[in-house]
Amino acid sequence: IDADFERLPSIFYASDKKGVKLIEREYEIRKRYELPVELLNKGELHKRYKMRTYAGALLNRQSAQLDAYKAATLLFRYHIKKDHLQIFTHTKITSCEETPQGCRLKTKDDRTIRCKYVIVAAGFEAGQFLPEKVMKLTSTYALISHPIDNKDLWPEHSLIWETAEPYIYVRTSGNRIIIGGEDEDFNNPEARDELLREKTEKLEKKFHTLLPSVPFKAEMTWCGTFSTTKDGLPFIGTWPGTERIFFDLGYGGNGITFSMVGAQIISNLLQGKEDERKDVFGFGRIC
Ligand SMILES: Cc1cc2nc3c(=O)[nH]c(=O)nc-3n(C[C@H](O)[C@H](O)[C@H](O)COP(=O)(O)OP(=O)(O)OC[C@H]3O[C@@H](n4cnc5c(N)ncnc54)[C@H](O)[C@@H]3O)c2cc1C
Repeated sequence: IDADFERLPSIFYASDKKGVKLIEREYEIRKRYELPVELLNKGELHKRYKMRTYAGALLNRQSAQLDAYKAATLLFRYHIKKDHLQIFTHTKITSCEETPQGCRLKTKDDRTIRCKYVIVAAGFEAGQFLPEKVMKLTSTYALISHPIDNKDLWPEHSLIWETAEPYIYVRTSGNRIIIGGEDEDFNNPEARDELLREKTEKLEKKFHTLLPSVPFKAEMTWCGTFSTTKDGLPFIGTWPGTERIFFDLGYGGNGITFSMVGAQIISNLLQGKEDERKDVFGFGRIC
């Protein structure tokens, strides 16, 4: 499938003194484990990427970006054709329980679904199927620019983010720029939406400080829900004491990447194969 997958360098820059310590420590750890990384100083960042930063940054060339919407919809289409996958849209599941014979689910219009196994991949709304709260729901903001002449973008179109919290992240999408961040610690939709204008201005200002030579004019703006866990890792697997309901919850900023790990682990467990990663990402670490 063609979901605009592109390999691009990723730059993680230090926003302040604390950030300098963080990237230096991260650099040492990555070097120790022979993970590919470069440490750039402030001058190099400006010379190579037109960036104006407080200090230096970590650079790696293992990163990539894709259009997540295209990837999801095209994967569905591919498997509908290849494996006769059936999709039931607008079918809200209101309960999901294990029975001695398998699993029983109820839909909003009061129908019952019986099956051997269930994989819950309900994202930020999966909390209702868990006995305990495992993630924190927050709010996040994002803007996309008007199209920009390629010559005005920064070299290599690298993915950019910073150490500070709330952070800003910057990337390109075709000839437009996407910037986002300015996360808030709450998830009340009205309060979140009310801040959109203020957050748009803050993100634009931060972008102009970071890349002053790149023109940016927002064409569309959004806000939405984001979710994090205490240790930044996803939750993959069954809740302790259950066997048939699997969760694939790619929480955190690497959710798309982790969802692939989740698919591999759950597929292995369903086939009765051992997968040592299940303990790293399992609920056992909080129960
Ligand atoms: C602004 C933003 C930027 C991000 N950037 C990145 C990034 O750069 N890299 C990265 O790896 N990740 C990123 N993420 C995280 C990533 O998007 C998520 O982790 C990922 O989309 C989660 O996928 P999912 O399939 O688990 O859940 P979702 O994509 O949320 O899908 C869940 C689905 O379940 C359905 N559903 C929910 N409840 C029910 C129910 N009761 N019955 C039936 N269906 C239900 C929903 O309608 C939805 O279709 C970002 C997230 C945000 C918000």
